[in-house]
Amino acid sequence: MNEQKKIVVLGAGESGVGAAVLAQKKGFDVFVSDSSPIKESYRSMLIQKGIEYEEGHHSEERILSADEIIKSPGIPNDAPMIIQVTEKGIPVISEIEFAGRYTDAKMICITGSNGKTTTTMLTYHLLSSAGLNVGLAGNVGKSLALQVAEGEHDCYVIELSSFQLDNMYDFKADIAILLNITPDHLDRYDHQFQNYVDAKFRITRNQTSDDAFIYWNDDPVIRKELEKHGSEIKATRYPFSLRHEPGVRAYIESLQLVIETHKDKFQMPVQELALPGEHNTYNSMAAGLSARLMDLSKENVRRSLSDFKGVEHRIEYIATVAGVRYINDSKATNVNSCWYALKSMTTPVVLILGGKDKGNDYSEIEDLVREKVHALVFLGVDNRKLHAFFDGKVEHIAEAHSMKECIEQCQRMARKGDTVLLSPCCASFDLFSSYEDRGDQFRNCVKNL
Ligand code: ADP
Repeated sequence: MNEQKKIVVLGAGESGVGAAVLAQKKGFDVFVSDSSPIKESYRSMLIQKGIEYEEGHHSEERILSADEIIKSPGIPNDAPMIIQVTEKGIPVISEIEFAGRYTDAKMICITGSNGKTTTTMLTYHLLSSAGLNVGLAGNVGKSLALQVAEGEHDCYVIELSSFQLDNMYDFKADIAILLNITPDHLDRYDHQFQNYVDAKFRITRNQTSDDAFIYWNDDPVIRKELEKHGSEIKATRYPFSLRHEPGVRAYIESLQLVIETHKDKFQMPVQELALPGEHNTYNSMAAGLSARLMDLSKENVRRSLSDFKGVEHRIEYIATVAGVRYINDSKATNVNSCWYALKSMTTPVVLILGGKDKGNDYSEIEDLVREKVHALVFLGVDNRKLHAFFDGKVEHIAEAHSMKECIEQCQRMARKGDTVLLSPCCASFDLFSSYEDRGDQFRNCVKNL
């Protein structure tokens, strides 16, 4: 027990409260501080567990007397309190780092700019359907720390954002998955793409040759990084690609998804995969590789890759009304994910774009829009940038300032056989409270048609 050691947890959300509960269980002197109001359910948990906390401000003196700080991923490194803590030389770690100290469970960790949640949920589905005692943690599900505090799982599937990876030092992933790297969140990385790339590569930290590193072989950023620093990565590599090239361990050949691990070869028809689209084939390869590395039987892997129900708001089929299919891809909050959504469309498209632009460059989707989209609806408070880019490039363009109005516009412009796709490239906060709210409103409006 560590009675005397003082731990301060900054941020009282899912991750912070979980860390506090675990720290208390391990006998530390714990104090939680959140500069904003704490959500009711988390406040009740702190009270019920008798954990000291404050909200709406930070008591600097108390925080600066900590031996170690557990920082929630939502708090940037340049927050004034973190700067003070760092200047004083107090170690700052993440909740995952902390929780990792108290479990020997196998860790399957998933990161990337796009596809994390889908791959995490799919991997979890594979392992849990095969009967493994598995926990779901990180950005989805309950915090890892809380699950470690409440009882053990034999393994965890953990979705890790770059923010969670930032403050990880001794933690080790038994299986690390890096799906892709495209620019995102650069405001948190001094606008230096390399800093964000470095954060993503922290997923391979501490891995040994007994561990696995699964990654997309054709990602130019990952490739370049491996050329520069590949020798520092000790894990056994399992690259995946659409093409069968030397060294690639998951690929497509004669319309079959092939996964090679150890001496064994698994294969199944691509058309049996539950998740449609090229991007989801990558996600299925990554999840399938990790499942095979966890020794799941071929039958289990085949069944679960084909009966997975998908994740809400990610190319989620809603309904077909008057011969028009409606697809909710509200989670496409950057241009790259919209590119993949468009790529997977097999009919003419009415595309809904707009929201809070994070510095988007729409030229990335221009060719696909010209090829597949005959009508655009801009759903946002300020649509000027979209007009400036797309006007004259697409036959019909309309604007909407609410989801109801947007669906009316789509219905007016869609022809039988079309797909209406909400894949907005932007954050939702101008008109909606979150991407979930935006997707839920889309679903409700479509269901009411
Ligand atoms: P994340 O958790 O990384 O944000 P999600 O699984 O929630 O990823 O998917 C976010 C968006 O990215 C969705 O719109 C989805 O269509 C798209 N997407 C999913 N997988 C990939 C991938 N492997 N590559 C590119 N885009 C993807």
